[in-house]
Amino acid sequence: MSTRPELGSTLNLQIDHIPEGRPNRSGSPLRPEFITVHNTDNRGKTADAEAHSRFLKNTGYYVHNGSKRWVSWHYTVDHDSCVRHLPLNEVGWHAGSSLGNSSSIGIEICMNDALNQDMAFDRAQRLIACLCYDLGFDPKMVVKPHMHWSGKLCPSLLLTNGKLGAKWANFIVGIQGYLDDISDPVGV
Ligand SMILES: [Zn+2]
Repeated sequence: MSTRPELGSTLNLQIDHIPEGRPNRSGSPLRPEFITVHNTDNRGKTADAEAHSRFLKNTGYYVHNGSKRWVSWHYTVDHDSCVRHLPLNEVGWHAGSSLGNSSSIGIEICMNDALNQDMAFDRAQRLIACLCYDLGFDPKMVVKPHMHWSGKLCPSLLLTNGKLGAKWANFIVGIQGYLDDISDPVGV
């Protein structure tokens, strides 16, 4: 067993918000009901959580059909750290649907070739367990793949032949395990 603060302290969480006023800060209030899980689909060796933080702060858009598509999300997780990019009460643009954006916390899990993938997923499970604990969420009900909102094949590493299968189920089981292991009662 561990306490919520003990579990939180294993995350190596850095708070590094996208500056207010940047075009990828929505400024729209979020009351989270879901947690949306993504993989970055960026294999570059340096594409870790810190690199995604720099991208969100300094660039924050992809060019799609010749126009800028601004993006943001709440956390990026790699094998040895997490970075939070937005306050949890502000909408991010990550789900590919207004319903997903306006109801969920977005978490990107790195998959670059230089990281330990199992450790990255484990850290993401610990982060999501902490969020579920803090927000009173049931992981089975609230943790959604990006695919749920838009049909995009994301999180690519947690799908099985483009569908939810054993990998996704095991990911949720792992979150539940960490959540069940938290020993202190809610509110302490
Ligand atoms: Zn995604």
